[in-house]
Amino acid sequence: MAERIEHCISCGVRLEGAGAVRFKCPSCGAELGRCGKCRKQSNAYVCPSCGFKGP
Ligand SMILES: [Zn+2]
Ligand SMILES: [Zn+2]
Repeated sequence: MAERIEHCISCGVRLEGAGAVRFKCPSCGAELGRCGKCRKQSNAYVCPSCGFKGP
């Protein structure tokens, strides 16, 4: 069973508070998370499952 995503994929901060989102990797469907700050700044992320890079 996959672990529930609890940390931002970009900066590693805990996903809590305003703006934090979980979403599926567009490439492989793995669950990813991002904090509000990284979402706002459009920080790049890399999917740990398939290596997909996205904004
Ligand atoms: Zn972040
Ligand atoms: Zn992926």
